Amino acid sequence: MTVLRHPDSFSSQPADMYDWSPHAPRSWLPTVIEASCCEEYVLCSEGAEFFVRRRTDDGLYQETARGRYARAAKAWNDLAAEHRHQERADPKTARDPWW
Ligand SMILES: [Zn+2]
Repeated sequence: MTVLRHPDSFSSQPADMYDWSPHAPRSWLPTVIEASCCEEYVLCSEGAEFFVRRRTDDGLYQETARGRYARAAKAWNDLAAEHRHQERADPKTARDPWW
């Protein structure tokens, strides 16, 4: 995943939403709000926190920084817009057993 924006280049942009870190579920399972094509990126909420989750090639999950819905939704939109759909039998497109 390339860095979409330099953190300092757009002060109004939530650049930290694109910092991926290992997914760390907290007190309850995240609620899935929306999934992008092929479920590449999933917009989730945990309580009042919203974030985007993705699956790595290793089958692990990563999440963006957490924040308000508007921030997470925008990050999700931007990320999902970069998706290049390919018709192929890829394990990553299989039904996610996690939810
Ligand atoms: Zn797709």
